Amino acid sequence: MAKKQYAVIGMGRFGSSIATALSEMGFDVLAIDSDEQRTQEMSNIVTHAVSADSTDEEALRALGIRNFDVIVVAIGEDIQASILTTLILKDMGVPALVVKAQNELHGKVLHKIGADKVVYPERDMGLRVAHHLTSPNILDYIELSKDYSILEMKAADSMIGKNLKELDIRARFGCNVMAIRRNQEMNISPYAEDRLESGDVLIIVGHKDDLTKLELAFAA
Ligand code: ATP
Repeated sequence: MAKKQYAVIGMGRFGSSIATALSEMGFDVLAIDSDEQRTQEMSNIVTHAVSADSTDEEALRALGIRNFDVIVVAIGEDIQASILTTLILKDMGVPALVVKAQNELHGKVLHKIGADKVVYPERDMGLRVAHHLTSPNILDYIELSKDYSILEMKAADSMIGKNLKELDIRARFGCNVMAIRRNQEMNISPYAEDRLESGDVLIIVGHKDDLTKLELAFAA
């Protein structure tokens, strides 16, 4: 199977991190920015780095943007440019378009005009850090939808030695323990009798209100 080809538009902190990570994973990456200095900085990192204005349809065509498997639009501040770029790329029929949104309204517009995936890096990272701050036991927090999330949580002292039946997380909090990670091993469908050990990490799915109750109940 041919290696996937990615184009990333906008070499701010987010766009350049994505372009760099994809390159390090061995993918071909075209980095685009209207600011020549930004593309210059990426030229040793990615396969190609070019200066172009992504609101210029002809410039995008000349770059053969339609031939890329995934295109990421990482223009933040200039919302108009982000929307225009998304519209042009959708019109060209690109297969997969991921766009960074600056806020909810921006995200709504992007969905309406056909972005395949809208990401909110600042909001998502803010959520994760906030949850980690409430308790050092919370290792990660990933939003699945408006209401549901996944929580990655180190077993609290009060959980150690107990099995899942005794902890009764489903009945007490309405959340489900999907998996338990012990060292590097993943137990992906734990039994009610599985006992928790120090250092275990629980991966729990649930309504965000219920997850918050659970977090507070086990806060260190
Ligand atoms: P971050 O938070 O990721 O650093 P940001 O949300 O502040 O980024 P901006 O700095 O506004 O986003 O934009 C990211 C990059 O997109 C900038 O380097 C900017 O030059 C580039 N950019 C903005 N408009 C266009 C455009 N029309 N065509 C190409 N690149 C553009």
